[in-house]
Amino acid sequence: MNTSKDNFYQFVAQTSDFPIGLEIDRAESCFFYTKDGKKIIDFISGIAVSSLGHRHPKVVQAIKEQVDKHLHVMVYGEFIQKPQSDFAGLIASQLPESLKRVYFTNSGTESNEGALKLAKKFTERSKLIGFKNSYHGDSHGSLSVTGRDVYREPFLPLLPDVHFLTFNSYENLDLIDEKTAAVIMEPIQGEGGIVPADKTWLQEIRKRCTEVGALLIFDEIQSGFGRTGSMFVFQQYDVVPDILTMAKAMGGGMPIGGFASSNEIFEAFKNDPPLNHVTTFGGHPVSCAAGLANLQVLLDEDLIQRAKWIEEKVKSGLTGRGIVEVRGKGAMLGLELASRELTQQVVEAAMEKNILLGWTLHSNTLIRLAPPLTIPEEILDLVIETLKSLISEFA
Ligand code: PMP
Repeated sequence: MNTSKDNFYQFVAQTSDFPIGLEIDRAESCFFYTKDGKKIIDFISGIAVSSLGHRHPKVVQAIKEQVDKHLHVMVYGEFIQKPQSDFAGLIASQLPESLKRVYFTNSGTESNEGALKLAKKFTERSKLIGFKNSYHGDSHGSLSVTGRDVYREPFLPLLPDVHFLTFNSYENLDLIDEKTAAVIMEPIQGEGGIVPADKTWLQEIRKRCTEVGALLIFDEIQSGFGRTGSMFVFQQYDVVPDILTMAKAMGGGMPIGGFASSNEIFEAFKNDPPLNHVTTFGGHPVSCAAGLANLQVLLDEDLIQRAKWIEEKVKSGLTGRGIVEVRGKGAMLGLELASRELTQQVVEAAMEKNILLGWTLHSNTLIRLAPPLTIPEEILDLVIETLKSLISEFA
């Protein structure tokens, strides 16, 4: 009989020739336990998903309680489902007046698809502006506004009338004009190498969008739900987007996403024709129950402050030969090393020491540091010390 490992390599569609291939038995807190008996520190949280750590007891309990009540009952937007409505209410309590309505989806890319469609429908325009080195997901609409040619070219033609600006640059801002439906951006670029926007530049983008009537979409799929030291990173910029997209850490390990906007903008989805944007599973009750518990824990346990504490410890701890910089905000950090070789050596050697680190999609000299916000202090210290000694050994 085939083992699960055989089945993985034979029957599960692969996305590269070099999957990490850890065979997971279970996961708890900031640890993976593998079939071959290893205990591995998860320092990337499933790419910024498991912010409370794996299987937070309150999230697990909420899932179990919901499973005993009902699973899927009806397509999105038709029935009143308690976990969904209460989750929307709690999310709204964390957002400004103009973002108090949320449309639930299943994933990050689906949230961006919805946001782009909403902007087109509301403005009755089609031109879109994205940024170089951005990442918004792999479905056609999100890929159309993703700013890396290597990922786009195999799938051309994508959406027409999409233009790319340089992140943090004032050049060509007049491309944002009266024909523009939306400007979509990550206020802190994730896959592009953990690059925060400059505050005055972001404010200028906001101003330009308002002047020409284009909607500003912030993709906070990676940066949302406390990871950067505020609930959403835009709250550190005094800039409010017209549409906010979210996913990843939103469901405490369950699949869910969403996009928030104003009542006025969401009116565009109701009519001409009605039901012009629907989803079967968006806002699944079990995912919403998990998301609600996840957000409640995030607030009750003040984990957002902990993100800042992680930033201080990592930034002060990781200095020295071979390290170019540690950048980012809160627990969304990138460790830039002097060369590709060094980066590879450190990531591989850390894995041998049972520490899982990651790359970002568009950079090969950057190590992604995104531990669960609940990581115990001694484990955080251990990872910092191990990284320091590996870097100085190889540099
Ligand atoms: N936007 C950003 C900023 C992301 O980081 C990601 C995922 N890495 C996505 C969108 C796509 O999310 P998903 O994989 O859930 O579709």
